[in-house]
Order: sequence, then C-alpha cells, then structure tokens
Amino acid sequence: MKIPWETFERETIDHLRALVRLNTTNPPGNERIAADYLAAALGAEAIPTVIAESAPTRSNLIARIEGSDSELAPLMLSSHTDVVPVEAARWSHDPFGGEIADGCVWGRGAIDMKSKCAMDLGIALALRRAGATPRRTLIIAAVADEEAGSELGARWLVEHRPELVRAGFVLNETGGFTLFLGERRFYPIQVAEKGFVTVKMTITASPGHGSMPRADTAIAWMADLIGRLTRHPMRRRVTPLMRRTLAELGVTPEKAPPLFRPMLSNTVTPTIVRAGYKDNVIPGEAWAILDGRTLPGEDERAFMAELREIVGPEPSLEVVKSAPPAESSADTDLFRLIKARTEAADPGARVIPWMLPGATDSKFYAQLGAVCYGFAPVRLESRMPFGALYHGNDERMPIDGMLWGLRLYTDVVLEFLGLRRENVFA
Ligand SMILES: [Zn+2]
Repeated sequence: MKIPWETFERETIDHLRALVRLNTTNPPGNERIAADYLAAALGAEAIPTVIAESAPTRSNLIARIEGSDSELAPLMLSSHTDVVPVEAARWSHDPFGGEIADGCVWGRGAIDMKSKCAMDLGIALALRRAGATPRRTLIIAAVADEEAGSELGARWLVEHRPELVRAGFVLNETGGFTLFLGERRFYPIQVAEKGFVTVKMTITASPGHGSMPRADTAIAWMADLIGRLTRHPMRRRVTPLMRRTLAELGVTPEKAPPLFRPMLSNTVTPTIVRAGYKDNVIPGEAWAILDGRTLPGEDERAFMAELREIVGPEPSLEVVKSAPPAESSADTDLFRLIKARTEAADPGARVIPWMLPGATDSKFYAQLGAVCYGFAPVRLESRMPFGALYHGNDERMPIDGMLWGLRLYTDVVLEFLGLRRENVFA
C-alpha cells in the first residue's frame, strides 16, 4: 500500500515530538527509552532490530532492511539519541515537552538530532509498509553517547559489534542546512571532521606563603602559558578540501569568514584551569585541560609537537583522550546526487563540501571504511539563529523547513537505494 505523503509528514513530526519527550540527557544518557520506542515502531512493521547495550541503559539500536542486490554496499542512516543537558529555567517552553508553537517543534534534541532520527525511522517504516524492496541494503543506526564522546555508542559499536554498523555509505548529522553568507545561500555537506586530542598540561614550581610575592609561581607561569596559547594560533594549513570549499565561496584563506577559520589549522583551546587550595598559600602546581583539534592529514604526534613548540619544554603534557580526524571523498555518486537534488530543491543555492571542526559519530564509522556525509537537510529563514540553537536554550525545529528537508532527504535516500518516490508514496 502506497503511503500518502501527508501521512508520512505528520507521522515523522509526531515521532520527533515523541522522541523529544523521552529525556535522554547525557549524562546519564538512559538511551534505552529511545531505543525501546524505535524498536516498538520498527517491530510493528516486522523490521528486524538489534539493541546492543554497551552498559546498562546505554542502548544502541540497529535495524536492517536487506536489499535485493548484494553487490551494492549498504547505506546506513545514522543518528544519536542522547542530548546535552538543559538550563530549564531559561527556556520559553518545556525542553522535554515536544510542544508546537510559532511553527516549530520545541525541545532539546529537536535539532541535535532527534529530527533526523525521526526522519530515518519514518523512511524505514514507509518502505516496509509500501512493500518496497530496495536494491541496496538499508541500515538504521540510532546510538547512545555521542554527546559525551561516543565511548558507549558509535565507538563501542565499531570496536565490539562492527558487523552491525559496517556500511559503504553513511548519512549522519551536520550538513544540509541553509547557510547565509551575504546575499548568497549555501548548503554545506560535511565530508570531513577534525580529530581531537584532549591534553592535561601540568606545571610545578616551588610553593610558598601568600604574603611573600614572587614572579615565578605556578599560577603566574600558567597564566603566561594560557596567554601564549591564545596569542599564537597554530600554523595555517589549507587542506585540498578547504581549498575547494573556499574556492566555491570565492574567498582566499586570508579572507575566510570566521566560521571557516577553525578549519584552516589545528587548534588548541584551554577549557579548564585549576590551581590553589588556600587563600594564603602559593600552590606548587597548576594544571589546565587543553581541547586540541587536529586537521585531516595530521596525527596526534604532529599535534603534540606543535603544541610543545608553543608551550616550551617544561610543562608536562599528558594526552587524556583522543580520536583521529576523518575525511571522505566528495567524488562519489552519493555526493553528486545530494548536490543535484539539493540545488534543485532550493534554486540559486549552492552545495559546498565542508569540514566540521567538532566531532561526530562519523569519525568512527569511517574507520570501518564507510564514506560518511553530514546530510540532515533543513531549509532555514535567514533570521533563524540555527547555529546558536545547537546545545542552546530554546532549541527548536521549524516545521516548514524540516518538511522541506524531509522531502529532499527522502528523495536522495530512495534514489540511492534504487527506488523512486512513486514506489513508496502516493
Ligand atoms: Zn549531535
């Protein structure tokens, strides 16, 4: 039975609202409630699912619809079901209410990223209800713990249950939203993301009495190091991808808009500083956490060498955690399909490949050989502060923009699976 398009739209918005109402704030996560919700919906259409728990209540849901052509590499639609904490008092609507107001679905996760989770679910359900068999196998992954570094989600799956998430292609978050630069509209598609190296920097100096001032204390030294890190950007290196992105924007690296600057070098940002324990004691130690980010093509050792050049030989530098960068080629049929369909859906706009300065689950799926793109399309009005709503107060998804994205996303996914919209929708 073909699915009326309006039914598909309404159900997808309903799934988003239901998912927002499930409080999966990480920590502690408790993604099991989201996995159970998805498993019940998929199970009602007899779609096989696996729930893999990396720890109690930390559930990863994987569903699979086999394609008819085993020569084609599977397509995985991926999302994470955890969300970041809220400051509830600063919201204008209940962050876990899933309310509709002012044309938006409000709530934590409405953008990041229960909306894509709802779209992935909706597509799987529609395929099965319409009795459509894709040529290419479709995998749905809705996983835990992305917001805390993926240890119990994508990273765990790749290390412990790779057979569940091995795919040729992955469509994940961060890409496909309208980016306004001057008068022009772009749709960035994430093809690369930076790695991270979190470093604890410790310095020691002789302690003393607070009444006896000195210049060579651990605190003064730390202040100097923080100043040096802030004043000395790491060296600029324009990767081939960023050369292409900037060329599409029509700017030189020197003139890159602020949004793009973190993509032109490794970066290091002090995020925690600690020293001292009593008001009249000069402490003998100070430490800081440095949030380091590495460009594709750079490794941890090169990053640490560059950091060492800035801070000098004395401080102790200890890597707390790290994960490598990832980059997929933009020279694939899937990228060309995304580009063609997106540019047709918003005439005058251009698709550009881009690099995320942050991290997503894609870096782990890429380790299994998948080509990973950020494509969760939403059309935005220029006044929508979309970027600020990621992890911000009053996170909300504009319904019109999401439904525009749903149509585009569904067209891209169905075509890549070897189907057409008419095979599934009335
Ligand atoms: Zn996210």
